[in-house]
Amino acid sequence: MPGASGEKAVPCVPCTGSGFTTCMGCAGAGGTMLSRSRLGLDGRMEFYQERLTCVACAGSGRIVCRKCKGTGWVIR
Ligand SMILES: [Zn+2]
Ligand SMILES: [Zn+2]
Repeated sequence: MPGASGEKAVPCVPCTGSGFTTCMGCAGAGGTMLSRSRLGLDGRMEFYQERLTCVACAGSGRIVCRKCKGTGWVIR
């Protein structure tokens, strides 16, 4: 097949060669803040924030690029 010998590795575009892309589930934050409320000791509602670890990236905020499988390079 003509051109097969001309294969070369080029930096992966979606991850810009880093091998990882920003997690879409948490926008790279690694989790989301959840606003919650509970009844305080004085009988009044108090509000607090709870951090939920993103399940898509396990809290790392990034996921292995599917195009290059984390190598950062693709073969053209
Ligand atoms: Zn995530
Ligand atoms: Zn990639």
